[in-house]
Amino acid sequence: MHPDVQSLLAVQRDDLEIYALESRLAALAPRLAALEKDRARVAQELERASKAVAAEESRHREVQLRIESSRALADRSQRAYESVTSPREASAAMAQLEQTKRMVDESERDAAQVQGRINEMRHHVADLEAKLADVEVRQSDARTALESERAEIQAQIAQATAKRNQTAAAVPRSMLAKYDKVRSRRHAETVFPLRGPSCSNCDTAIPTQRRAAMAATGALEMCEGCGVLLYAGE
Ligand SMILES: [Zn+2]
Repeated sequence: MHPDVQSLLAVQRDDLEIYALESRLAALAPRLAALEKDRARVAQELERASKAVAAEESRHREVQLRIESSRALADRSQRAYESVTSPREASAAMAQLEQTKRMVDESERDAAQVQGRINEMRHHVADLEAKLADVEVRQSDARTALESERAEIQAQIAQATAKRNQTAAAVPRSMLAKYDKVRSRRHAETVFPLRGPSCSNCDTAIPTQRRAAMAATGALEMCEGCGVLLYAGE
């Protein structure tokens, strides 16, 4: 095998190592996203519950106003009843008074109901707050682990890249450029040996003359079948 090709194969080994590290790095993203999703689910539930409490509290304020106005009405009816002068007026005023008292009772019942709901909902909010805090505590270890894994892989990539650059210095510039052009498209193994008269990646046959030139000069030829670069193996 031509020594330039040997050097290029060493570069390819380094590149494949970098690709493997890069895919390990990429695999961290969905793990981080899964943590985010778990946290967001609880956080959103908490937000909905808090909004529901706020809505119920505003309903409670409305009911309070209704209580006040029906109490004022009941007081007026009470005074009207006390100042009647005839039995006929008395029975009408009594009916009016009873009606306003029923309104007071009704709105007080409503207020109690709303308050009961608010109490329950506040419990639910407190539970969700505790649940969110719990998720965050549990996730903090996982996030730290992910972060250190990421830093470690990045350090390995930096190291592998430095090694690759050193290895690449031994390859003629034009050969390296040809290789890099095809590699950047494939993002995988790029240089393959001939197997007999054919491409060892796809079995397309290479004309005898071209094979002879490859063997003599160490030149790389692109396979017309699959687009990889071929070298003469022996
Ligand atoms: Zn091929």
